Amino acid sequence: MSVAQWFKGISLRRPPAPAASPSEAPAPERVYLPLRQHRGDVCEPQVQPGDQVALGQIIGSSESIEAALVHATVSGKVEQIIDISDAEGHPTPTVVIQNDGKDAWAAPDADALIIDNADQVLQTKPSHLLKAIRKAGLVRAAAHGLPMQAELSPPMAPRSYLFMTGIPVVRTIDTLIVKAVDADQPIIPNQAGLAGFGAELEIGIAAVARICGAQKVIIAAAKGADLGQLPQIAAAREWSISQVNGCHYPFGLDSMIINALTGREVPTPYGEPRDVGVLIEPLATILDVGRVLRTGRPVIDRLFTVAGDVAKPQTFRARLGTPMAEMIKAAGGASGQPGKVIIGGPMMGMAHFDLNTPVTKESDGLFVISLAKVQTFSGEPCIHCGRCVQVCPVNLIPAELGKMCQYGHYEEAADKDLMHCIECGCCAYVCPAKRPMVHLLRLGKTEVLARRAE
Ligand code: SF4
Ligand code: SF4
Repeated sequence: MSVAQWFKGISLRRPPAPAASPSEAPAPERVYLPLRQHRGDVCEPQVQPGDQVALGQIIGSSESIEAALVHATVSGKVEQIIDISDAEGHPTPTVVIQNDGKDAWAAPDADALIIDNADQVLQTKPSHLLKAIRKAGLVRAAAHGLPMQAELSPPMAPRSYLFMTGIPVVRTIDTLIVKAVDADQPIIPNQAGLAGFGAELEIGIAAVARICGAQKVIIAAAKGADLGQLPQIAAAREWSISQVNGCHYPFGLDSMIINALTGREVPTPYGEPRDVGVLIEPLATILDVGRVLRTGRPVIDRLFTVAGDVAKPQTFRARLGTPMAEMIKAAGGASGQPGKVIIGGPMMGMAHFDLNTPVTKESDGLFVISLAKVQTFSGEPCIHCGRCVQVCPVNLIPAELGKMCQYGHYEEAADKDLMHCIECGCCAYVCPAKRPMVHLLRLGKTEVLARRAE
């Protein structure tokens, strides 16, 4: 077992981590199932208000490879199809189902692929595995994740990096990294997923490695985390485990893990892990793949952490479509009057205004901050202390970029690598002038992309 480390970023004084072992959150009275729960295309509804639906029944579908099927996550009656805001505030068509409390499953699919163990995976054609994953509507379990059939398929055309070499880059994937760590603690669905999922984990890793063709599997786990049955599984399959420093932020970001574990650098700003021969998947996704193949059923829930100022911070198996308000209740309710509810973690999440926003395939948790702890302040001018430069994990000069974005010099900022910013928030965290760095940089990036699209 090797230990990977890096030196930029920041050490955070973290709230206590929630209990590691996931529990099941109660199914809500009503689920809100958006017809797009990922980056990509929206599904067409396959039901109408008044229809009775069974658990696991398809309620949204599309022919597009960049759309994941949507299944009912409770049995009951379709009440309405309405627009509700996703985690970023964009209105999305959403099927609302009233739960009848019966959890009556749809008739089993006679053609479903069922896999009992990882050896069987090795005797199954990758195309059959991929078809089963597509039928289950799986999505990469991370913000802006793609449907898994798109994530696991080779790109339609060779990708090229004109800004670097002008030479088309064609790489086959040789390494699968399974990410059992989480970037934005204490939101820890991947760490929590290590407990109690031996068979699914083994089948999931074997299946994803077989589909993408990776010869080498590395499992990245947080130093000191309870690894459950992982060491035994990994030793039997010749997969390696690397530990990363869980007290250092942003230790869980894909590009940083890839660099620390393989020495390869994902080209920024528009490169992908595939361009350096790596597929990196959150452990939560791998578990979903394992469960789908083991049961022949779609996944109806996901690992979701509720943390911050709630009575019992913890990671749940939460039904997809459960409103955030119900997840806060499941964690014992907010401690004190909530001041901010952040979808995602405290460093990279987005504060949200609508507690009807549901748990989706790409959401990993929520963080509550009580009103008494919410600080309001206005940013002061930069005092050129240089702290932001010291911590930026991608070696930018945030102070300079922030000023350019503040005064509308967006293209100039782009020339200084603005688009390489990974929005980790380290610069804002250390800034003594409390400058709203991430907001300024996000504004700049949005303006650059909008102008280039014109
Ligand atoms: S400039 Fe971007 S990448 Fe660098 S510290 Fe700030 S938010 Fe993080
Ligand atoms: S940390 Fe804040 S005050 Fe210091 S150089 Fe960076 S932006 Fe300026």
